[in-house]
Amino acid sequence: MTALVLGHKNPDTDSIIAALAAENLFRGRGIDVAAAAQGEPAPETKFVLDRFKLNAPQIVSSVAGHDVYLVDYSDLAQAPDDFKDAKLLGILDHHKLGDVTSDAPLECWIQPVGCSNTIIKVVSDFYGVKIPAALAGAMLCAILSDTVLFKSPTCTKTDVKVANELAEIAGIQDINALGMEMFKAKSNLDASPRDLIFRDFKDFDMGGKKVGIGQLELISLDMISSDLMGKLQSELDAVKAEGRNSAILVLTDIMKEGSKMLVSSDNEDIIYQALGAKKDNTWMSGVMSRKKQVVPPLQAAFKA
Ligand code: MG
Ligand code: MG
Ligand code: MG
Repeated sequence: MTALVLGHKNPDTDSIIAALAAENLFRGRGIDVAAAAQGEPAPETKFVLDRFKLNAPQIVSSVAGHDVYLVDYSDLAQAPDDFKDAKLLGILDHHKLGDVTSDAPLECWIQPVGCSNTIIKVVSDFYGVKIPAALAGAMLCAILSDTVLFKSPTCTKTDVKVANELAEIAGIQDINALGMEMFKAKSNLDASPRDLIFRDFKDFDMGGKKVGIGQLELISLDMISSDLMGKLQSELDAVKAEGRNSAILVLTDIMKEGSKMLVSSDNEDIIYQALGAKKDNTWMSGVMSRKKQVVPPLQAAFKA
């Protein structure tokens, strides 16, 4: 049976390109797999796929009865709803360990680096599996995306080393120029407020409460008009009302290297306090990573 290699809900560039890169890795080892995604590519990912002439993975919303490898997550909340009826074969990820489990021994490659594609390159080298030039270019873009051009505190020396090796394979001279081109595509605000909130959105269980956190990374926050800011707040209130304790939208300015946020919550004081922000001024200097700088303090505050 062909196993699926599947990224998380609301797929970002890393989860989609990691599915393609892990497909190359497993097929290179003689394992029958097919890349899959839980949704359409976002504008940034579309740019990457077009730039390197790669096809988007098939879209899958049900995995019951399938063998599955997960890339870029290990949380049930980010897996298809019928994941409990699938067989988990392995995980390639760079997040905190989630709550999936398996019935049999599984292949796990989880490391605290900046991007799942960094791990897949390291594992491909371990098995001697070659990476085609186009795929290498897309994997480089995934690293630039997840590490925000190497500026995120999640970025490690391994990410920078692997990015340079991938640039070499892809024949890319100017890594930074490629990254800026990609972030310009990512900064596209031509979508509904709901689509903007869900473009990169994850639900977390925090002390038994459902907390949804979206992130928009833009070249400049000045791109968001006050009209759009108001619409995003009202839509976020609607998203919160759909069975969540809290909905948060983190708005990251990649050039100024910090974030603002919109909050809709039954416990907003906990959120502002945990993140060192004020209700009337939510600018958080240096905050770029949801994974490392937003989720852990919120987890701790909601548990307390
Ligand atoms: Mg991701
Ligand atoms: Mg990632
Ligand atoms: Mg990200």
